[in-house]
Amino acid sequence: MTRAFIGLGANLGDREGTIRAALAALDATDEIEVVAVSRLVDTEPVGVGPQPRFLNGAAELETTLPARELLDRLLETERRFGRVRVPGEHGPRTIDLDLLLYGDETIDEPGLTVPHPRLHERPFVREPLAELDSTLPGLH
Ligand code: ADP
Ligand code: MG
Repeated sequence: MTRAFIGLGANLGDREGTIRAALAALDATDEIEVVAVSRLVDTEPVGVGPQPRFLNGAAELETTLPARELLDRLLETERRFGRVRVPGEHGPRTIDLDLLLYGDETIDEPGLTVPHPRLHERPFVREPLAELDSTLPGLH
């Protein structure tokens, strides 16, 4: 089992409902247990142009999946909950699930960077993570 943390974001539709439903879907699988969920906080969009406000948070998981398969599961769950990607654009989204931390692993592969590269520059990611575990490295 590996302890992993994921980032949660939504800025279209029923933001909280979609985040909660996506977490329930992840938790319903044998390979993933959702151990804890942070508060969900309403935030100003950062670095993505004019867009609706986001609801952001983080969740702690226990998983038997390798990091790449966990990411694939997150991207699949985004698609299932209505995220439409426009290549090259950071457009509004019903759901954004990012792999923030996977155990204490450092991964730098095409399509998968862990810890998530923008974790440290985003207060709306750092703060929910600190709420889940204030001893995680690099949060302060
Ligand atoms: P962002 O989350 O930064 O707004 P996207 O959700 O559009 O951007 O993610 C774009 C791509 O980033 C994904 O298709 C995925 O392959 C890649 N990626 C690389 N590392 C990660 C990670 N740790 N978590 C989530 N996506 C990642
Ligand atoms: Mg993402």
